[in-house]
Amino acid sequence: MSACIFCRIVAGEIPATLVFSDDSVVAFRDVNPQAPVHVLVVPRTHVDSLADLRDGATAAALLGAIRTIAEAEGLTAPARGFRVVANTGPEGGQSVDHLHFHLLGGRNLAWPPG
Ligand code: AMP
Repeated sequence: MSACIFCRIVAGEIPATLVFSDDSVVAFRDVNPQAPVHVLVVPRTHVDSLADLRDGATAAALLGAIRTIAEAEGLTAPARGFRVVANTGPEGGQSVDHLHFHLLGGRNLAWPPG
């Protein structure tokens, strides 16, 4: 059994609220949401962080999934929008060492607030 919590979510060993799944990507809602929409988009294959992502097909699949989920969540409408974050490494604030993109939306994320 993997010790990686996101590998265990991908494997279905621990519960998560999945919003997307295909051959190479799984996405699920963050347990500690920072916005009305807060989804984590991860590769099925373990990659420690964005600094270790060298497979272009996986990169494309992750970005494609982000776009698909953003649209499904209503974030691609003209007046809407969203933010994508990949905390990377200790100084980047990464706390789970399985590459993940945070997809955030559903409130005004502009800073300073306009
Ligand atoms: P980061 O700090 O960028 O590595 O983000 C890790 C994120 O994973 C945090 O926002 C956590 O709330 C989230 N998280 C940790 N464990 C789980 C879990 N079991 N299910 C969903 N989200 C999780």
